Amino acid sequence: MIKFLDLKKINELHADEMNEAINRVVSSGQYLFGEETSRFEKNYADYIGTTCCVGCGNGLDALYLILRGYIELGTLSPGDEVIVPANTYIASIMAITQAGLVPVLVEPDIATLQISPVRIKESITQRTKAVMIVHLYGRCSYSQEIAEICGTHKLLLIEDNAQAHGCYFENRRTGSLGNAAAHSFYPGKNLGALGDGGAITTDDEQLARTVRTLANYGSEKKYFFSYIGRNSRLDEIQAAILNTKLKYLDAENQRREQIAGIYTDGIKNQAVTMPAKAPKGQNVFHLFPILTDYRDSLWKYLLHHGVETLIHYPIPPHRQKCYPKLNDCSFPVTEQIHSSELSLPVSPVLTCEEAHRIVSLVNRWIPDL
Ligand SMILES: *Cc1c(COP(=O)(O)O)cnc(C)c1O
Repeated sequence: MIKFLDLKKINELHADEMNEAINRVVSSGQYLFGEETSRFEKNYADYIGTTCCVGCGNGLDALYLILRGYIELGTLSPGDEVIVPANTYIASIMAITQAGLVPVLVEPDIATLQISPVRIKESITQRTKAVMIVHLYGRCSYSQEIAEICGTHKLLLIEDNAQAHGCYFENRRTGSLGNAAAHSFYPGKNLGALGDGGAITTDDEQLARTVRTLANYGSEKKYFFSYIGRNSRLDEIQAAILNTKLKYLDAENQRREQIAGIYTDGIKNQAVTMPAKAPKGQNVFHLFPILTDYRDSLWKYLLHHGVETLIHYPIPPHRQKCYPKLNDCSFPVTEQIHSSELSLPVSPVLTCEEAHRIVSLVNRWIPDL
């Protein structure tokens, strides 16, 4: 069986070093707000290319803290509109509504599966104050066009970089392209902890200070509370794990790119649509999405031949029960993606032989209608 994602195998690659890191924390006596966390914040800011990095509990908190931070600083106000892709993972949208802001869902381009700059422009109103781009599936969704739209309309540009650690736009990394960026270190992400973790990167020192305060009960000074904050921390063990794994991230992303190359060059089946190729460096292949009108048939066929695949994501955000007001909205491109997307396995431990086997299976597949 070729697993969709073999986390055990991935983490076994660096097991000795990770065990050493954990032991270091155990014997340090410091489990929160210690050296590992501040070292990771420094390492990750350097890696992404920002002046500031603030660790936090998870990716959803990172997104929420950025938005709350801008509200506390007076840059955003409750009720302001935030543009966000309609086909994102639900966390992007939940962060917006939890911060008291209004998500404006915008359709992606079917060729790239990323938010459409043209549709962003069409969706701007008097109330629009920010654009949240999501580098979905590990592919850079930033463009000069989006930067110009934000510049012209004075909109904040926030990146959801949960799926794209290490990705580039030209010579800058995603996570350094807008005003602030949120990162998730959920175990299955390209840079994954052994539990939950998240971070905010930004060059805005005032925002960094505010999110750090918000993540610590709104307290900058012990026993003094400036905001009604959250408790959202990156703990020392996770930070030590991330310090270890960050060193290997670029090499692991290169392995992902190699696997993706095998799929891109090899898959030739009329019933399968491959996403358009991204410019060099602009995809770290968190996932390898393909589209087919006969998804169920392909999913079953691959499983029957020992290959696990997953759908990202089966139900679009606007169809979820938690957002009843969005349920009647129509997003045809998003719906098309959600009804035809299937993700092939891609990971640093998948072998080239396995990838070639998947290619020949997909090429021999005939959809049963
Ligand atoms: C994983 C993910 C998140 C949330 O991260 P958590 O750490 O699970 O809270 C946010 N946005 C996107 C696009 C994600 O894939």
